[in-house]
Amino acid sequence: MKSQEIRAKFLAFFESKKHDIVPSAPMVLKDDPTLMFTNAGMVPFKEYFLGNGTPKNTRLTDSQKCLRVSGKHNDLEEVGKDTYHHTMFEMLGNWSFGDYFKKEAIDWAWELLTEVYNIDKNSLYVTIFEGDKADGLDRDQDAYDLWRNHISEDRILNGNKKDNFWEMGAQGPCGPCSEIHVDIRSEEEKAKVDGKSLVNQDHPLVIEVWNLVFMQFNRMADGSLEKLPAQHVDTGMGFERLCMVLQGVQSNYDTDVFTPLMREIETITSFKCGHKEETDVAVRVVADHLRAVAFSIADGQLPSSNTAGYVIRRILRRAIRYGYTFLNTKEPFIYKLVNTLVKQMGEAFPELKREKNLIVNVIREEEHSFLRTLDQGLILLDNMVAKTTGDIISGDKVFELYDTYGFPDDLTGLILSEQGLKYDKERFDVLLDEQKKRSRNASLVETGDWTVLIDDSEEEFIGYDTLEANVKITRYRKT
Ligand code: ATP
Ligand code: MG
Ligand code: MG
Ligand code: MG
Repeated sequence: MKSQEIRAKFLAFFESKKHDIVPSAPMVLKDDPTLMFTNAGMVPFKEYFLGNGTPKNTRLTDSQKCLRVSGKHNDLEEVGKDTYHHTMFEMLGNWSFGDYFKKEAIDWAWELLTEVYNIDKNSLYVTIFEGDKADGLDRDQDAYDLWRNHISEDRILNGNKKDNFWEMGAQGPCGPCSEIHVDIRSEEEKAKVDGKSLVNQDHPLVIEVWNLVFMQFNRMADGSLEKLPAQHVDTGMGFERLCMVLQGVQSNYDTDVFTPLMREIETITSFKCGHKEETDVAVRVVADHLRAVAFSIADGQLPSSNTAGYVIRRILRRAIRYGYTFLNTKEPFIYKLVNTLVKQMGEAFPELKREKNLIVNVIREEEHSFLRTLDQGLILLDNMVAKTTGDIISGDKVFELYDTYGFPDDLTGLILSEQGLKYDKERFDVLLDEQKKRSRNASLVETGDWTVLIDDSEEEFIGYDTLEANVKITRYRKT
C-alpha cells in the first residue's frame, strides 16, 4: 500500500465515524510563548482541551506536521542514528473534544489496525498507565478492561509515567495514555526472544506506532494537576512508522515516503547505502533534515539568527556537516533534493509546491555560506596542526576555532583523528562551560544581541553564531 493511500485510509476511516477531516495546522508557531514548533497533533487544539471554545464538530481527524527538535520532545540527536525518529514527521490523529472517550478510542484504533490495515493481531502489544503516587493517580483499569475485549492479558503491559502519561510540555493539558506497539521481527527472532520484553526498549523492530491519550488534566505552573472541564481524546500515530509496518520494510527510510530522496542523495553523491554505517547515517540525516527545513520555509520560517529561525539553521547545518564529512559534498547539493520532495509530498501539502522556489534558493544560499565557513575552518585547523609538536592540539585553540569561527568541535575531533591526532577535550569543555556561564550572567543585564527563547522546560545552551557580520551572538534558550 502506497503512503498516500495509507494516509487517505486513516482519514476516511475516521470520517466514517463522523469526524471532520481538517488540514494540518502550521508546524511553526508564531504566537505561542510556550512553544516554538508544533511537536504533536494536539498542539493546534490546545485551547479546545482547556475549555476555551469548541470546534464546530466535536470529532476531528487530520495528519499534522510535527517537529521535535526542542523542549520536552527533542529527538534531534537520535535522527539518522536510528531508523524511526525524525525531526519532522506526520502525526495522524483523531480527536474527541468532550465527545467520546476511552471505549471508542480503543475500539476504533483496534478496528483500523486489524481490519482496515490488516495488521496481524499476534504482532501487537498495548500498554496502559500504571499510575503514579506523586501525582496521586491510580492504574488505568478502564483502559485495561477495554483492551481485554480485543487482546489477551499477556499482551497488555503496564507503562510508567515517562511512557504512559502524555504531556505537551512543562505546563498544559495532559493525561494517561495507552500505546500500541508492533513487533515486526521475523518469526525466527520472535521465537528466540519474547516481544513483550522488547516493548519500549528502543528496539528498532518492536516499535511504538500509536498513542491514545485520554486528556483529563491540566498541568499547572506549580506542577500540580487540575481536572479539565471535560474529558477528551487525543491520538497520535506516527505516519512514517505505520508506512514501515504496512509496507513490510524495516526502516522508515525504506518506505516510499523516503526512498525517492534516499536514491537521489545516492545519485548525487555516488555513495550507496547498505555498506557502511556512517554513510547510511549521513544519507538519513540529509533526507530527514531536508524535510524539516523545507516544511519550515514553506510555513514562512526562514533560517536566521533568531529563535525558531536559528533552530532551523542548526538543523540545516547539521545536514550540511554530515554531507561534508561523510558524503564528501564540498558544494551545495541539498537544495537539489527539493524537487523530489515536492513531487512526493506536494499533493498532501500544497504549501511545498507554492513555495518551491523560495525553498530552493534559501537552502542553496545557506549551504553556500556554511560550506565557506567549513573551508575556512579547515585551513585554520591545518595551520594549527602544522604548528603543533606531539599529537595533542590545545583545547584553547580548538575552542577559538569553535567560538570565533563557528567551526564545530566534533568535526575538529573527527578530522584530527583521521591524522592520528587528538585535542585536549577536558580543557575545551572547561572553556565551553565558562562561556555558558558568561552567557547566562550577561543575559541578566544585557539585551541587544542576546536572544532568550522561551520554550517549555529547563534552560539549555544552544550554541554560538559568529557568521553574520562579525557580530558574535551568544544565545541560549529555555527548553
Ligand atoms: P518514542 O517513544 O518512539 O520516542 P513518543 O512516545 O515520544 O515516541 P508520542 O509523543 O507518543 O511519541 O507521539 C505519538 C506517535 O508519534 C508515536 O507513537 C510515534 O509513532 C510517533 N513519533 C513520535 N516521535 C516521533 C519521531 N521523532 N519521528 C517519527 N515518529 C514519531
Ligand atoms: Mg519520544
Ligand atoms: Mg514512547
Ligand atoms: Mg508515546
